[in-house]
This record gives sequence, structure tokens and C-alpha cells, in this order.
Amino acid sequence: MADNELFPVAADWAKRAWVDAGKYKAMYEQSVQDPSAFWGEQGKRVDWIKPYSQVKDVSFDKADLHIRWFADGVLNVSANCIDRHLPKRASQTAIIWEGDDPSKAESITYQQLHDEVCRMANVMKAKGVKKGDRVTIYLPMIPAAAYAMLACARIGAVHSVVFGGFSPDSLANRIQDCDSQFLITADEGLRGGRGVPLKANADAALKTCPNVKTVLVVKHTGGRIEMAAGRDVWLHDEAAKVPATCAPEPMNAEDPLFILYTSGSTGKPKGVLHTSGGYLVFASMTHQYVFDYHDGDIYWCTADVGWVTGHSYILYGPLANGATTLMFEGVPNYPDASRFWQVIDKHKVNIFYTAPTAIRALMREGEAPVKKTSRASLRLLGSVGEPINPEAWLWYHRVIGDGRCPIVDTWWQTETGGILITPLPGAIDQKPGSATLPFFGVKPELVDGEGKVLDGATEGNLCISDSWPGQMRTVYGDHQRFIDTYFSTFPGKYFTGDGCRRDADGYYWITGRVDDVINVSGHRMGTAEVESALVAHPKVAEAAVVGYPHNIKGQGIYAYVTLKTGIQATEELRKELVQHVRTLIGPIASPDLIQWAPGLPKTRSGKIMRRILRKIAENEHSALGDTSTLADPSVVDDLVNNRMNRG
Ligand code: ATP
Ligand code: MG
Repeated sequence: MADNELFPVAADWAKRAWVDAGKYKAMYEQSVQDPSAFWGEQGKRVDWIKPYSQVKDVSFDKADLHIRWFADGVLNVSANCIDRHLPKRASQTAIIWEGDDPSKAESITYQQLHDEVCRMANVMKAKGVKKGDRVTIYLPMIPAAAYAMLACARIGAVHSVVFGGFSPDSLANRIQDCDSQFLITADEGLRGGRGVPLKANADAALKTCPNVKTVLVVKHTGGRIEMAAGRDVWLHDEAAKVPATCAPEPMNAEDPLFILYTSGSTGKPKGVLHTSGGYLVFASMTHQYVFDYHDGDIYWCTADVGWVTGHSYILYGPLANGATTLMFEGVPNYPDASRFWQVIDKHKVNIFYTAPTAIRALMREGEAPVKKTSRASLRLLGSVGEPINPEAWLWYHRVIGDGRCPIVDTWWQTETGGILITPLPGAIDQKPGSATLPFFGVKPELVDGEGKVLDGATEGNLCISDSWPGQMRTVYGDHQRFIDTYFSTFPGKYFTGDGCRRDADGYYWITGRVDDVINVSGHRMGTAEVESALVAHPKVAEAAVVGYPHNIKGQGIYAYVTLKTGIQATEELRKELVQHVRTLIGPIASPDLIQWAPGLPKTRSGKIMRRILRKIAENEHSALGDTSTLADPSVVDDLVNNRMNRG
């Protein structure tokens, strides 16, 4: 499809942004030619208790794999996100909290954040939590989630946040995997007006987690729950007994900050481990430059703190930069499909960062819910989580941003800690559907199946050939899995698992996960391009394609298509869609089978799970694998019952 549709950097953006095109080139060159000098300088953006003398100490060689940044530096992440701002920002809002109920909101200043975090830290200490202990956090999107994470960072405990939508089993697995003995949860969460029984789920999970000695419970909805004597305590009771100051624990740069289990689009969740110094430097720097954050901006990332996006871009990056960050408890369509835009107007949000799944869902509802709102405060839009179909990009740009706001399509992973490929809004012209160019210090490489590095305009496996400070350090408790997963397929490089195309301008286009690649008559095809062609049809809301065994072609293309609200599924439309893809991409990409899908199976972070769709297409729905991370397992039944006969 059109690679050359260009949205150039506007002149006012080039002027006001931290980085313009010339500066991007110069800084990028320096960052990859002399990473130690570059990051040695950037490392100073955080406060060190003991400054580092070493910067980069890395080997991607399997036999001697190690990744260390600022290794002899000592710092505390919570002090960097709170204390160091107090002289200037004690009364500035750190967190704007917007409740699921539109009548509920709160502003938390940096001073209040300090006091709440210190109290929670003191409670944890009083209950015996020590530096290095793992603490599991199972909370809704309420300020206490931020306090809990920062309190762990303050005392050197390693947090593992488990998304509040996960089941008791998923929670139990994650608690056991890192042997966490302390759990922080709430009575209930609220999403779209419905209660989420967090404490009851936790009680069920803890039946198989005998090592958990203490459960700290946040009172949120006031719903009825059971409190186990000797194990469960209320935060408000305990917090009243402790002071609102707590000295931050000096931490080595390479001491663990958190474990985060990946969402599991591709299999058994991995405990991704991030450390303190490099992670914070990278989260802070990417937040400043990618979102062009300036003092006074109101910044909103709609992710849940249970995902890495919430860690790096609701909490650590923004707070390290002294920003005002908005935390939203609810969902995009409650009370109605205007909610996001109402929140933007209410809090005068300038920077808005969300996921393609949300954009596609809102697009399905048409323009009216958007156009009821002003959105005049918006200056910049962002996307993360999946390839954004060009059609959705254009809608986001034209309808949400009124054609005025650049879009940063940010490619990164739980493993990368922060954004690796992205436009910088004042420096890099955007192309709808492309994550564009690498961030400072990031060296992407495309390699073929044998690991040969491909040059110029080409397509291949996306690797990163050198380290950046935010990189994960290991899989918790399974270093061999870390080596096997990321450094063995293509020796000497970090393998992302994603396929990618580079165009003649050097722009990167993520084509989908390599595991999902379809091979039709010897032509390898990413899922993104075919899906984007389908989504480009005016009647299509969302699409997912997978391969299935085909006698002649090796693999055929099986497409699951969700139509826009009110559109009839007919045989004519099926033919029209096949023809549409033929015209846009070519006959090789035309779907062999199209199944109408009222919903697509997604992870709880909203990503399409093609692994499951593939099994259905292959007629192996008895072997769907781990479906525990599915947001709505019932969509699978519908798809199985209505699957196309492939003859
Ligand atoms: P798991 O690794 O457990 O299967 P996951 O890969 O979904 O889960 P994340 O780390 O949240 O977990 O997601 C990272 C992946 O999301 C990337 O590897 C890529 O496939 C996709 N992704 C994220 N952002 C973008 C983007 N801007 N464009 C294209 N793809 C993206
Ligand atoms: Mg992944």
C-alpha cells in the first residue's frame, strides 16, 4: 500500500519541540557511534546517590551474555519520581485520577504523593517486607496502585503488578512464579459501572499460595469482603499508625525494580525483569522526547498499570520528569462512546496515548460521539500495542485530532522497557501505519531466516543489534529462557519476535509477529498488511488473518472480519472484500476464506490472539492452548461454531 503518504512535521512543531530534524540526526548519530558517551550524559537526567563511573557493560554473546548499565551507580527510583521535585513542585498536581463514575475525580499533588507513598512504604516495612522481596500488586486503576509501586521502589522491594482483570488462577501462577509473600489488593475494582471482585479473586488465588503471609487491602468501593484474621489488614488502619516520611533505600543501578509478566499473546507468561537505573533513564528520556513533554502539559496514557505501558508511561517516565499524569479507572465506552473525549475536555489533556484496539472500537461507532466534544486542548496523539492500520491512523488524525495533532506510533515491548521505534513529533515526518525511525541509541536490523543482515528497502526479522539502558535483564528465575528466547535465534542480536519491512526512506513498518507469518505459494506475508487492507474497506471495523493448510498453496489465507455497526454480512460483501484485497495488495494476498466475526479473541490488553484463530482455522479447536489471558473467552465459542468449512 501507499508508502509515500506523508504527514510532514509542521513548522510550529519543529520550532517548539525538544528535537527537530537536524537535531534528531545529530543526536542519533552520536548515540549509536559512541553509546557510552551519549548515555553517560543522559544518565545525568536522574539524581544519583552515588554517581556512576561506568556506563555500558554489555555482551549479546550467548556464552557471555550480560547487560549492565551505570553498574556502579546508586539511586532510588521513588526519590527520583517524587522527592527531588518537592522543592519546586510540592503543590503541583502529580496525578489526576478520573474515576469510572464520571462524577468522581481527584488531584494528587507531589507532596501528597510523597506522604502516601511513604506511609505505604512504612506499612510494608512494619509487616516485614525487605529489600529484594517480591510484592504482588493486584489493584484497579486507582491512585493506591501508583502509591504501591512507588512504595516498593522506595524500600527496594520488587513489585509484580498483575492486571486487575486477571482470574484467580492467573494471579496465583504469577504469585507462585516469583514466590511473592506479600499481596496488595482492594475490596473491588470498577469498570464500566460493574464491580470487579478483586479481594474475592485474591482469596481464591491464595488457596494455592501458602507462602503469602500478608494481604494489604485498599478500601475502594466499600463492597462486602472477607478478611482472613492474621493475614489480611486494611491499608487505612495500618497507614494511620505510621509516619508520612520514609528514607529512600539506596539501590544499585542494577538492582531489580520490577517483574512484569507479559500479556501472553504467544504462550506461557514470562516474568520480565527490569532493573533500576537504566530503566528509569530510558523511561524518562523517551517520555520527554517522544511525547515532547514540557512543564505544565497534561498527559494521559490510557493503558492499565498492569501493562508495561502503564509502568513506563503512566508512572515512571512522567513522574521522573515532574509531569502531571492522568490515571483513568474506566473504559472507553462507559457511560457512552464519548467518554475519552469528555475526559480530555474536562481535564484539558494535551497529550493522549492509547491503543489501536480502542481506536478501532470507537471508529466503529462513527464520528458523532467524538464531534460532540471539543478536544481543543489536544496537541499530540500516540498509539501503542499493535500495528495501527493506516485507516485507523487516518481516522485518529482527522476525527480525533481534527487534522491538527501529529501521531506518534510507538513500537516497543515489555522486554524493551521503553519506546524503541517511533516518530519524534518535531523531527520525523509521519506515514500512517509506520512506526518510522529508531529512538536514540537503538540499532534495528532486519535479518533473513539464516540471520544474514539485509540492507536497504527490504523485509525480515526485526532484531536490535546493541543494548539500550531500558532493556530487560533476565526472565525472573529462568535466565536460560531469557537466552533461548531472545539471543539464540540470531546469535549476537536481540530478536524481537516481530517481522518488519523497511521502505526506501528507511522507515520501519511492523508486519506482525513472526510466529503469525503466512506462507502462500512460497510468498511470506505479514498479517498486518492483509488486515489493514481489509480494515481499509468502509464496511469493515476490524480484521485478523491467519494461515491454514492448503493443498495447492501450502497455506491459504483465512480472514476473520468484524463489520461496522449496522452493516449486513452478505455473500456479495464477502466477494467484494476479496476483490478489495486483490486490488490493494495483489492476488497473492486475497483471502481464501472469510468468516464473519462478531468479536475477535483478544488478550486483556486488547491485542488480537492469532494463535487461537489459527487453531480454529486449522480445525484444531480442541487444542487451543492457554486461553487464560483472553479478555472474553466466549467469542471463541462463537468462532468455533461458525467456522468456515475449508473443504
Ligand atoms: P507475549 O510476548 O507474552 O506474547 P505481547 O508480545 O503481546 O505478549 P507486549 O510486550 O505488551 O506483550 O507487546 C509487544 C508487542 O506488541 C510487540 O512485539 C509487537 O508485536 C506489538 N506492538 C507494540 N507496539 C506496536 C506498534 N506500535 N506497532 C506494531 N506492533 C506493536
Ligand atoms: Mg511479546
